Amino acid sequence: MKYIIATHNMKKRNELARILEPLGVEVLTAEQAGVELTDVEETGTTFEENARLKSESGCKETGMPCIGDDSGLMVDALDGAPGVYSARYAGDHGNDPANIALLLENMKDVPDEERTARFMCTVCCTYPDGSEIVVSGKCEGKIGYEPKGDGGFGYDPVFMVGDKSFAELTAEEKDKISHRGNALKALAEALAKVEVK
Ligand code: IMP
Repeated sequence: MKYIIATHNMKKRNELARILEPLGVEVLTAEQAGVELTDVEETGTTFEENARLKSESGCKETGMPCIGDDSGLMVDALDGAPGVYSARYAGDHGNDPANIALLLENMKDVPDEERTARFMCTVCCTYPDGSEIVVSGKCEGKIGYEPKGDGGFGYDPVFMVGDKSFAELTAEEKDKISHRGNALKALAEALAKVEVK
């Protein structure tokens, strides 16, 4: 079975395809299926609600099984912020440098041992008959003191796993441990069960 990936974020879309295809899941972008997806407003208050909003809308528009994901960074010292608001923490949607600057500012007095954080990712797959699969993944780390590395996207330069930031890892290294990698591994296992039904 083929699945549509419901995201306009090219880097995220590439990550999803890169992780799912070796697992035997065939994925298509909406463009490849000849459909332009409507931009879905992320009005949910949880990652699951937002992931479902995207997958349900994409499924309705394409008539094909559709995968939506929602992800974000939860920082313990900030009571879980930026959370579902990660993409627009500093105001504008997707302004990564501004989001990082605000995060570092808000963390400037937080000592090393309290800089714990995790990336969270929930993936929802909606089928045309209305059934769905929901899985989640996380990755524990710490917030650094300055941006490091130039790979990845979003908060990668300030999310430290050991002594490296996510932005200093290769794509393959990140996929192995990332929240999205973990969620997609769980998704691929769940999809494999559906495929043999
Ligand atoms: P959304 O899932 O498109 O709503 O966006 C979530 C936001 O969380 C992104 O815009 C990034 O700011 C952040 N984020 C999610 N996953 C990652 C990641 O793997 N690295 C860095 N930032 C991420």
